[in-house]
Amino acid sequence: MTTCASRMLEKFVAPYDAHVIERLRAADAVLLGKTNMDEFAMGSSTENSAYQITRNPWDLERTPGGSSGGSAAAVSALMAPLSLGSDTGGSIRQPAGLCGVVGMKPTYGRVSRFGLIAYASSLDQIGPFARDVKGAALLLEAIAGHDGRDSTSVPHDVPHYSQTVDHPLEGLKIGYAKEHFAPGLDPEVERSVKDALNIYKKLGATIQEISLPHQKYAVAVYYLVAPSEASSNLARYDGVHYGHRAAQFDSMVDMYSASRGEGFGSEVKRRIMLGTYALSAGYYDAYYLKALKVRRLIRNDFDEAFGEVDIIATPVNPTPAFKIGELVNDPLAMYLSDIYTISANLAGIPGISVPAGFSSGGLPLGLQLLGAPFAEGKLLRAARMFERETDWHTRIPPNMVVTK
Ligand code: GLN
Repeated sequence: MTTCASRMLEKFVAPYDAHVIERLRAADAVLLGKTNMDEFAMGSSTENSAYQITRNPWDLERTPGGSSGGSAAAVSALMAPLSLGSDTGGSIRQPAGLCGVVGMKPTYGRVSRFGLIAYASSLDQIGPFARDVKGAALLLEAIAGHDGRDSTSVPHDVPHYSQTVDHPLEGLKIGYAKEHFAPGLDPEVERSVKDALNIYKKLGATIQEISLPHQKYAVAVYYLVAPSEASSNLARYDGVHYGHRAAQFDSMVDMYSASRGEGFGSEVKRRIMLGTYALSAGYYDAYYLKALKVRRLIRNDFDEAFGEVDIIATPVNPTPAFKIGELVNDPLAMYLSDIYTISANLAGIPGISVPAGFSSGGLPLGLQLLGAPFAEGKLLRAARMFERETDWHTRIPPNMVVTK
């Protein structure tokens, strides 16, 4: 079953494999199963699944993050050595950070989305979760590459990431943006990023302050662009083309609205309404078009920054894992938990989340490294340099029984 954690697709059996699954089968991977997520990948806690919640292996009262929370928790809890997720606004990096594993969003165009259920097509990318950077390199190498069935897939050769990941980078320049260390950032998270920068300094990297002046608009821009695209992509679930069809209705229009009303959960409905509003006549220029213009400015900030530095280091999450139920009734607070991850999707650049310590409460903290387009090789090597100096990625959640 491929449900996308929605009632809408409760009985949907995919008629073909996604490109990434074809690639994994060709590489002799053992496919263990499918994991839980927020419905249609909308959320940051996996609480929006129409079926079950997923718990954080480090503290069962807390969420694993989302929306690919099941994939992150499965790797964290040693249920699988590797897993896949999709990242539209942070859904690989954010749960990886909260579950203490490695998660990577490749450059837009690096991995084909053929067969991925679309959320926001100008942002969606598939990427790996792993227990360490080498695992992420290996999985990315297996799934990356051109595929003519996704028109945004870029025909660049795939470097042998797994063979170069252990080569340290000479003369590495790492930037940190002053805008990322603003009020709202948990002091322990801030400490872990600063400690990471000191480790890089010890390794010979140059650390430099940079500015991303339009970063402050990222959440607002994302929550116009993503729902707009979602409202269009999700139009196909009408009980005719795809998805659940209501048992009772009086007319054709009633059939559509009853089917969609029963099939979608409340967060998905909220996004469809937001997106439909932003795209509607009279509001399009003021909201959607304006958001696209600011999106360009966010990308320009990164282009400028990558003229000065190789990598930008940031927090992944503003806080460690939050409690189940804590944010789920406060959509705005939930949206703000994506504040550090969203801009990479808007700019199309790659980002990786690596384990970078623990809070005083024993919860994992993540470090995010961002790179220029198609600089995945450099990003993985930089992440591996950090990983070699630390042992955070070797820790396992409490109460795990490990047999050798
Ligand atoms: N949390 C963000 C959202 O709800 C990002 C989700 C994602 O990357 N799929 O849209």
